[in-house]
Amino acid sequence: MIQGIDPQRPPSGPGCVECERDGGWWFHLRRCAECGHVGCCDDSLGQHATAHAGQTGHPIIQSYEPGEDWFWDYRTEQMIDGPELAPPRSHPAEQSTPGPEARVPADWREQLQRARASRDGRSG
Ligand SMILES: [Zn+2]
Ligand SMILES: [Zn+2]
Repeated sequence: MIQGIDPQRPPSGPGCVECERDGGWWFHLRRCAECGHVGCCDDSLGQHATAHAGQTGHPIIQSYEPGEDWFWDYRTEQMIDGPELAPPRSHPAEQSTPGPEARVPADWREQLQRARASRDGRSG
């Protein structure tokens, strides 16, 4: 078994834990391979998947998007192969991207672009 992956652990739910709690929305979802925490991706405003890894030390996420099964290891910053995790392996197919539909603002593209631009400005 790869350290940081628990294939028995089911995902926490159909949406980002923190965005659901705070009434936010997300772009893509990622699942912690160790504890099943579902969080939003680095292109989302909350970046809760990466925040979860930082807070807990859980090092590996898997995409929680339908049709995607790649893993990402934060320690090496590499994509890796992993075992089949406990189902469900993605959010419900009827969930919109971005989601959840009821909370996605009309100008979501602009909001994500602005967030990305300000991140790029900081790092460069
Ligand atoms: Zn989130
Ligand atoms: Zn975790």
